[in-house]
Amino acid sequence: MVVTERRCLHDPLQCIIPPHMLERLAESSDPAVAGPARESMLQSIRTRAFREASRLDSDWPARATPRDRKHRMVYDAGGSFDLPGRLVRAEGDADTGDMAVREAYRYTGSVWDYFKKVHNRNSLDDRGMTLTCCVHVGRNYSNAFWDGSRMGFGDGDGILFRRFTRSIEVVAHELAHGVIAFSSDLRYFGESGALNEHFGDVLGVLVRQWKRKQEVSSADWTIGSELLVGAPTRRAL
Ligand SMILES: [Zn+2]
Repeated sequence: MVVTERRCLHDPLQCIIPPHMLERLAESSDPAVAGPARESMLQSIRTRAFREASRLDSDWPARATPRDRKHRMVYDAGGSFDLPGRLVRAEGDADTGDMAVREAYRYTGSVWDYFKKVHNRNSLDDRGMTLTCCVHVGRNYSNAFWDGSRMGFGDGDGILFRRFTRSIEVVAHELAHGVIAFSSDLRYFGESGALNEHFGDVLGVLVRQWKRKQEVSSADWTIGSELLVGAPTRRAL
């Protein structure tokens, strides 16, 4: 057995939707767009504050995982930011019928398989780290993040964004931040921060292409198209 609850706390909260996008949405004249965007910004600030506080939390639970086998734990935050929330599906447990839980469990499994089979890497830290996901984070929360030890996924505002577990490359992008944190010193600001995000995007897309057996030349390289309600714009490499 190995201890697998590990954290990379030297970097800030890393979100798939960057702050400047939410800031622009928060300035919208449409209150249905601006309100959820402002709330998502505030919720990210709260999460950062929680993360800062948890740096000093010596009671953070250690997780043990069977060596060289994937181990997933999916929690339901129940619309709050009090993470991780209630454990609803651990490794080997039956499907709960909740789509967000199903997608988080399935896609984190695909990411673990990708790193094991393609890179011979044993989870994010190469030491069998448990993959912990929190779904239904916040109310109408339009973001997904890696907080140094686990992923969080909002359900979206239903106007611009759907739930953030819908996209395998978004799930893979967030997990890739873990791989990047454990294998590099790309601090999350400036040029190194941009490279950090870039590698997250590339690894996210590679996981999708590997899972779907796509060739690089035939793949579309877009990220998160499943998240967008109207799909007016897309983030592409
Ligand atoms: Zn990112």
